[in-house]
Amino acid sequence: LDQHRDYVLRTVEERGVRLVRLWFTDVLGNLRSFAISPAELENALEDGMTFDGSSIDGFSRIQEADVLAIPDPDTFEIIPWGEAGASEARVFCDIHHLDGSPFDGDPRQVLRRHVRAAHDEGYTFYLAPDVEFFYFEQPAPGERPTPLDEGGFFDLTMRDAAGDLRKQTIRKLEQMSIPVEYSFHEDAPSQQEIDLRHTDALTMADSVMTFRLVVKEVAASQGVHATFMPKPLQGVQGSGMHLHMSLFRGDENAFYDGDDPHQLSPVAKSFMAGLLRHASEITAITNQTVNSYKRLVPGFEAPVHISWARNNRSGLIRVPIAKKANPLATRIEYRSPDAACNPYLAFSVLLAAGMKGIHEGYELPEEAEDNLFEMDDAALAKLGITQLPQSLSDALRTMEESELVQEALGEHIFEWFLRNKRREWWAYKEHVSQFEIDRYLRSM
Ligand code: GLU
Ligand code: MG
Repeated sequence: LDQHRDYVLRTVEERGVRLVRLWFTDVLGNLRSFAISPAELENALEDGMTFDGSSIDGFSRIQEADVLAIPDPDTFEIIPWGEAGASEARVFCDIHHLDGSPFDGDPRQVLRRHVRAAHDEGYTFYLAPDVEFFYFEQPAPGERPTPLDEGGFFDLTMRDAAGDLRKQTIRKLEQMSIPVEYSFHEDAPSQQEIDLRHTDALTMADSVMTFRLVVKEVAASQGVHATFMPKPLQGVQGSGMHLHMSLFRGDENAFYDGDDPHQLSPVAKSFMAGLLRHASEITAITNQTVNSYKRLVPGFEAPVHISWARNNRSGLIRVPIAKKANPLATRIEYRSPDAACNPYLAFSVLLAAGMKGIHEGYELPEEAEDNLFEMDDAALAKLGITQLPQSLSDALRTMEESELVQEALGEHIFEWFLRNKRREWWAYKEHVSQFEIDRYLRSM
C-alpha cells in the first residue's frame, strides 16, 4: 500500500496534477465526485476525507451524516480530457464510518465484501462486459431521440458516423488503463457496442463507472448525446450489458473441464444453477429502471426466459463454446443486465447467487436449445422454464421476498433501494401515456 501511495504522490508531482477528483458511487449507480488539491492528497490517502453523506441519495441516515472517503491508491489515473496544461486525476474511494468501519450504504464496500468472501474460498471472480449504447443528436427536453445514422450491425460504410467517436473513446479508455477487446456498430441505428477485456470484479465495477463517463464525455465533446438507456427506440434492439463471467483458482479457470461435453466443470454448473434459480430475485438490481423491462421482450435478442444454452441468444445464460477448447476463456454469458444498473450491486448479487449454487450444490437444469419464443406456455412449463419479471413492479415484489438479495446488499441498501424504486414505479404508473390516448380515447 505504501508503495502505491508513493507512486501516486510521485505521479501527481511529475505530471503537474492540479486537481484530484475523489470518485464514489451512490446506491443507484450514479458517479459522485468531489475535488481536492494535490496538497491535500497525502492526508487524504492517510486519514480519508470527511464529507456530509446525507447529501447523497441513499447514503446516510440523518443521525450518521458524516462519513469518510478513503481513496484507493490502486485506482489512481490521470483524466485524459479537460484543460491542457492543468491536468486532473481521479481516484475511487471506499466510504467508511468515522470510526473506520465500512459504511453499509456504499456499493463499493458491498462488492468488496463479496469479493473477499469468494477469495476466502480460493476464488477470484472475473467479469467482461459487452456494453451497448446509443449515440443521438443532443435532445431538447421532451424530444424523441434522433439517431446519427441508419447503420446496422458491423456496418463499415460512411453511414457509420459513430466510428470516429468510438475510436476516440477507446483511446481514452486505454489511457485510463481500461483495455477494450472489440468495438462495433450494433444492430440498431446509431447503436454501438464496446466489449471490455476481463478483470476481477471490483476493478471491473470501477471500469464500468469510468467507461460510462468516458463514452459520454467524448460524445459531448462532438455535440453528440450518448445514452445507456436500455430501450430508447421502439421497434429496434435495446442496449444490454451482457456479462461474461468465470471463477478462477489462482491461475486455473475453475469453470473449465476438458472432459465435459460442454467443457464446464461442476463448479461452473452449480454457479449457473445458482444464477438461474435466483435470477428473478436479482433482476431489480440488474435491471433497475421502468424502461429496462421494455428491452426484455421477445424479438430483440434480449432474454425473456430463465434458461441456458450453448450459443442460443434467446436464453438468459449463453455458454460460448469455442471450436478449440480454451481453458482460460471458458466462461458463461449472463444476458439480462443493462448498463443503467449499478455495477457494484449487480456484480454483488450475481456473485452471491452463483456462490449459493456452489455451496448448496444446485443441480443445473437441462439445456434449452430450441427457440423458446416459438414454444407455448405448456411446453415451457414441461421443461420447467419460467420468465424473468415483466416489469419493475414485478421485479421489486420478487426481490422483496428474497433472503439472498437482502443478505447480499445488507439491510441499509436493500431497504433504501426498495423504497426508492417503488416510488419510481408509482410515478410511472400514474403517468398516462400516448399509447393509452391512441388506443382508448376515441374507441371508448
Ligand atoms: N441488443 C441485444 C440486447 O438487448 C443483444 C444483442 C447481442 O446479442 O449482442 O441484449
Ligand atoms: Mg451486442
